[in-house]
Amino acid sequence: MDYDLIAVGGGHNALVAAAYAARAGLRVAVFERRELIGGAVSTAELVPGYRFDLGGSAHILIRLTPIVEELELTRYGLEYLELDPLFHCSDGFRPWFIWRDVQRTCRELEDRFPGQGEAYARFLEDWTPFAEAVKEVFLSVPSPLELGRKVVWGAGLGRDWKRRLGQVLRPYGEVAREYFLDERVRAPLVWMAAQSGPPPSDPLSAPFLLWHPLYHQGGIARPRGGSGGLTQALAAAISAHGGEVHLSAQVERILIENGRASGIQLAGGERYTAGALLSGTHLLETVRMLPEQWVPPAARAVRVGNGFGVILRLALRGQVRYAAAPGPEARTGLGLLIRGERQLQRAYGQYLAGDPTSDPPLVAMSFSAVDPSLAPPGDEVLWLWAQYYPYQLASGNWELRAAEVRESLLRSFEHYAPGTREQIAGELFQTPLWLERELGLRRGNVMHLEMSLDQMFSMRPFLGAAQYRWPGLQGLYITGASTHPGGGIMGASGRSAARILLRDHRRRRG
Ligand SMILES: Cc1cc2nc3c(=O)[nH]c(=O)nc-3n(C[C@H](O)[C@H](O)[C@H](O)COP(=O)(O)OP(=O)(O)OC[C@H]3O[C@@H](n4cnc5c(N)ncnc54)[C@H](O)[C@@H]3O)c2cc1C
Repeated sequence: MDYDLIAVGGGHNALVAAAYAARAGLRVAVFERRELIGGAVSTAELVPGYRFDLGGSAHILIRLTPIVEELELTRYGLEYLELDPLFHCSDGFRPWFIWRDVQRTCRELEDRFPGQGEAYARFLEDWTPFAEAVKEVFLSVPSPLELGRKVVWGAGLGRDWKRRLGQVLRPYGEVAREYFLDERVRAPLVWMAAQSGPPPSDPLSAPFLLWHPLYHQGGIARPRGGSGGLTQALAAAISAHGGEVHLSAQVERILIENGRASGIQLAGGERYTAGALLSGTHLLETVRMLPEQWVPPAARAVRVGNGFGVILRLALRGQVRYAAAPGPEARTGLGLLIRGERQLQRAYGQYLAGDPTSDPPLVAMSFSAVDPSLAPPGDEVLWLWAQYYPYQLASGNWELRAAEVRESLLRSFEHYAPGTREQIAGELFQTPLWLERELGLRRGNVMHLEMSLDQMFSMRPFLGAAQYRWPGLQGLYITGASTHPGGGIMGASGRSAARILLRDHRRRRG
């Protein structure tokens, strides 16, 4: 046998799992299709002197896990830079900031929007126990019993759990209205909650807003040198423990012998055998690699959705100049740029009709403000994330419509920082089609599968497969955004999958 464990795909979850396995003494090999490790957590110098992330940029969820310490990633080159303020919220006229420090945030909010600082404090007080309970559930292998025990009957909802449960089951747009009367405060909070995909009107979606207290706990950070610093460190940790990381190595087939996953075949025909396989690709890619008879019907029935975001990465000459917020703090945190809730509602309405949003709210990121290694001295990277964008358009296709959509993002941003387009020195526009072709994110879904309650917890990716084991086939494990707890830079899926497969490995070894 060539290895104890083969990981298919080098996304951050598969790398986290592989790193735990290598540390436990297993002979591990990772096979990644692309020439760069990390999947949706990677960085490359695409414009000379400017380093662009290719996928996720804001490291939030992983900061709530013990992964960085457990895997000693700072020893392997990972250095986190904290963002403070966490968020710059703006309608273009009255910007305000969410600082890591709760008191400072509430104080400033109260000064600017009387009553809203107090509302923010009450919101955090009401929902911090719930958010912490959800975090615990995210860090464990999902089970309905655990969910009930930790979130509902445990400290999560508190003594007032019957009323609170009602709120949890509501659309997050409604819960936001219960707390924040001033739309200038409410709209950016709702826009941040929309980042997981579901719109503010979806029933059962309130948790996307209710975990907001965790931003103050773990903060928001950036690996120095770009998001890919995390996956580079993971790859280095794997190598340091004797593991192998193979790039430009597309896995074509998962091999089965006597009812057990026994190895892989690469696109070039080479075969490798292993005691266990871990697929960290999109679920539908795992399905593609498996012989037909080992694919349960539920695996083909998952909801991938119809894309939801695009991102314009710009290399700028000089720095971003926000008209209403000229100080450096506006360039530091995530810029939640939204003129009002209707802007988001209209965007979702257009998306439902199959059209690209014509006037998008934006998340603006100019992280060269905290990490000068991302751009030449005095210059800036500016990344503009926007929602909602269908992968499948009602008319035309992405090749035909990309220019028009790019223009709408720039127009939207120039409401906040006029004259930005004159500063552009280079760019990358990532449409849903780009995300699928380059990063393997089917239909442009950066979370792999829709993040709706029917596909969360024990039902992600589908009932019977949530424990990271492929149903009915020994030796095949799954991880990644397709599995619990879903998309985002967290690594919890990789850590939990490693726990399961290492336990099975020890049992097999007796
Ligand atoms: C533009 C964008 C912005 C985002 N912003 C944020 C953010 O700010 N914060 C946040 O928390 N999250 C963000 N996300 C989401 C987050 O980055 C992803 O959900 C997460 O990184 C997915 O990780 P993963 O471990 O599931 O694997 P993936 O990153 O999906 O990796 C899967 C890997 O498998 C490889 N692969 C596929 N098929 C094969 C094969 N046959 N053989 C070998 N290898 C194969 C792929 O090349 C890829 O490297 C963003 C994502 C994108 C794309």
